[in-house]
Amino acid sequence: MPKYDYDIGIIGAGAAGLTVASGTSQLGAKTLLIEKEKDLGGDCLHYGCVPSKTLIRTARVRSLMKRAGEFGLPEAGLEPVDFKKVTTRIQDVISVIQKHDSVERFCSLGVKVEFGEAGFIDSHSISLNGSTVSARQWVIATGSSPSAPNIQGLEDTPYITNKEIFYLDSLPPSMIVLGGGPIGVELSQAMARLGTEVTLIQRSGQILSRDDRDMAEMALAALRADGVKVYLDTDILRTEDKGTHKEVFFIQAGREHSVKAHTLLVALGRSPNSEGLRLENAAIETGPDGWIKVDRRMRTSQRHIYAAGDATGAFQFTHAAGYEGGIIVANAVFHLPRKADYTWMPHCTYIDPELAGIGLNEGQAKERGIDYSVWTEKFADNDRALAEGESRGRIKLLLDAKERPLGVQIFGPHSGELINEWVAAMAGRVKPGALAGAIHPYPTLGEINKRVAGGFLSKKLFSDRVRKVLRLIFNLRGS
Ligand SMILES: Cc1cc2nc3c(=O)[nH]c(=O)nc-3n(C[C@H](O)[C@H](O)[C@H](O)COP(=O)(O)OP(=O)(O)OC[C@H]3O[C@@H](n4cnc5c(N)ncnc54)[C@H](O)[C@@H]3O)c2cc1C
Repeated sequence: MPKYDYDIGIIGAGAAGLTVASGTSQLGAKTLLIEKEKDLGGDCLHYGCVPSKTLIRTARVRSLMKRAGEFGLPEAGLEPVDFKKVTTRIQDVISVIQKHDSVERFCSLGVKVEFGEAGFIDSHSISLNGSTVSARQWVIATGSSPSAPNIQGLEDTPYITNKEIFYLDSLPPSMIVLGGGPIGVELSQAMARLGTEVTLIQRSGQILSRDDRDMAEMALAALRADGVKVYLDTDILRTEDKGTHKEVFFIQAGREHSVKAHTLLVALGRSPNSEGLRLENAAIETGPDGWIKVDRRMRTSQRHIYAAGDATGAFQFTHAAGYEGGIIVANAVFHLPRKADYTWMPHCTYIDPELAGIGLNEGQAKERGIDYSVWTEKFADNDRALAEGESRGRIKLLLDAKERPLGVQIFGPHSGELINEWVAAMAGRVKPGALAGAIHPYPTLGEINKRVAGGFLSKKLFSDRVRKVLRLIFNLRGS
C-alpha cells in the first residue's frame, strides 16, 4: 500500500495551482487539487486580470465614442452607463474562460479535484472537510487578498475592493480610490471613463512607484486627461462614513484636506492567503508580513512543500504564478534542480495607453551603480500611432556599457503587446543590432522597437570617426 494518498497535493486552484496540477497529472503523478471557492480559476479569473481587462475594454470603447469627432465622425451621443450591462459582459467573458479552468477539464487530465478549505495537520497531511488527506509533496498556491490597512475609521466605513467592484449593480456616481498602484490606477481610469467622478489618493510622490518617474508621469497625465483627480504625497488621517457618502481626510503639503464620494475603493496592497492554512503545524516559515518563504526552486523551509504565485509575495502577476508553477513541476516530478530566474520578468499596467516594462529601469540601474545609456523614441514619430490617433508616449531602452540591453519600458498604445518582442529578444539574448536589422512590417507600432534599437547603431554609424574614414576612402578612390 502506498505510504501517502497522493504523490502531490496542491492547495489553491488559481494560476499557480492549475499550472502545477495540469503538469504533474499529465506526467503521471497522482495529483490532488483543493479549492475553497466554488469554482476553479482563482483571483485572476474572478476578481483580477479577466474582469479588469474586460471592464477596461468597455471603458475604452466609451472613451473612443467620446473622441468620435477626432476621427472625422459625427459626435456620438453618450447615454449614461447601465453598469449592470457592463458587469453582465464581464460575467460572460469569465464564463467562457471558466470552461478552460473547469473541474471536468482537470478531471479529464487525471486530477482529483476537491472543494473545501485545507489546513496542515503535519508536514505531509492536511485536514479537508473533516477528513485527513496525505501527500508525498505539497504545493501551497493560495494566492493573496486585498490588504485591510490600518487607517483610523476604515473598519467602520463601508468600502469595496477588487472583490466587489466587478459585481456592482450600478455605476457609483463618485468614487475615492486609495492607492496608486496598478490596480488603483487601472480601475480609476476605467471608472472615470464610464462616468464615475474619481479621486485617487496616493501616498508617494508618483503613481506606479515601481516604474521610472518620467514614465509614471505620462501615465499620471493620461489619468488626469480622463478626469481623474489625483492627490500625491499624502498621508491619510482617517475615513468616515457619513451615510450618503464616505469621507477621507488626509494631509498634503502640510495642509489637511478631505474628499467625499459615494463609494470608497481600497487598493492599498495585498496580503497572503495563509489564514486557516495552519502553516505552523507543518513548520513552514513565513516572512514578517506572512508571505511564504521559498528558495529559487520554490521550496519552502520544508523541502517537500513548495509554494508559488502570490502566496510568496514576490511577483504578483499571473504569468509569474504560471512560471513558478512550471519550476515546481520540474523539481517535484523530474527532480531537476530548476531555479526561478526573474531577470526578464515583464510587467504591464493596463492603463490607456499601457505602461509595460522588462528588465531594469533607470532607477534600478542607478541603485545598482550600473553604467548605462538611455535611448528613446516617441510614438509621435511612429506613422501607425499617428494613423490610429494614439501618439501619446514613448519607448525607453537602457543599454549597459557593452551595449547589451538592461531593460525596456514602453508607455504607449498596446505596449503590453509591444513588450513581447523584447521578451523574446531578452530571453534569446538577441542583440539590439539584430532587432534593428530585422524587417518589421510597415506601418506598425512595433517599428518603434526597431527604431529605438537602431538609434544607438546610427549614432555609431554616422559618427565623425566613420565619416572621416569614409572621406579618406572616397579621396583615395578619386572622384
Ligand atoms: C484587480 C486585479 C487585476 C489584476 N490584473 C492582472 C493582470 O492584468 N495581469 C497579471 O499578470 N496579473 C494581474 N493580477 C494579479 C493576478 O490576479 C495574481 O497574480 C494571480 O491571480 C496569482 O495567482 P495565484 O495562483 O498565486 O493565486 P490566486 O489566483 O488568487 O489563486 C489562489 C486560490 O487559492 C484558493 N485558496 C486560498 N486558501 C485556500 C485554502 N486554505 N484551501 C483551499 N483553497 C484555498 C483561493 O480561493 C484561490 O482560488 C491582478 C490582480 C488584481 C486584484
